[in-house]
Amino acid sequence: MLKIGLTGGIGSGKSTVAKLFQQLGIPVIDADLIAHQLVRPGQPALGALVTEFGPAILTSKGELDRSRLRELIFHDHTAKTRLEAILHPAVFAEMHRRATGLQTPYCILAIPLLIETNAQSMVDRILVIDCPERLQIERVKRRDGLDESLIKRILASQASRQERLAHAHDIIVNEGDLAMLERRVKDLHLYYLKLKPNQHGNHDP
Ligand code: ADP
Repeated sequence: MLKIGLTGGIGSGKSTVAKLFQQLGIPVIDADLIAHQLVRPGQPALGALVTEFGPAILTSKGELDRSRLRELIFHDHTAKTRLEAILHPAVFAEMHRRATGLQTPYCILAIPLLIETNAQSMVDRILVIDCPERLQIERVKRRDGLDESLIKRILASQASRQERLAHAHDIIVNEGDLAMLERRVKDLHLYYLKLKPNQHGNHDP
């Protein structure tokens, strides 16, 4: 199974691209979604978090109290590392497990923080969605209603465009309209269908 890692900064168009691949019949395994599923009550990862951070990170219903956890991370800089040490291996193992059961010629692993979490070895190729920061800011403003200074802080906390592009095997420059994006995804789809599993290192078709 050829695994394509889909990544890009906030507002670059990852979710839109993921949907387009899905419409072409390609399964998308989403790291963010799995991270949410793995901390539901009864899941071992939630138990591990409680062991690490104490029961105060749970709501009265026994669910993960995300705002409490965010607060903890904000006040204790080691907490983020400890949280990631529990969560990331669990998420990656689950992604791997789900990819193994698939029958399609290739699949997409959507990992927004692929570069930041050093997850390159999880995938055979890296597809970066790239666009100018100005466009990222405009899109996130429109999509989430966040103010510009917060969006800029999020951008600064992520890998830079250059860092991400340095790891890319394939790049989608998403600065045109949706029809252009759709054409580019279709072309890449045809290219991926012809690749063999574990084929590394070739650049754009
Ligand atoms: P990400 O998942 O990378 O944060 P999204 O796919 O959610 O980004 O895209 C951010 C916003 O921009 C969404 O509202 C999406 O509909 C819009 N968008 C993405 N690409 C385009 C495009 N080529 N043309 C117009 N709108 C776009």
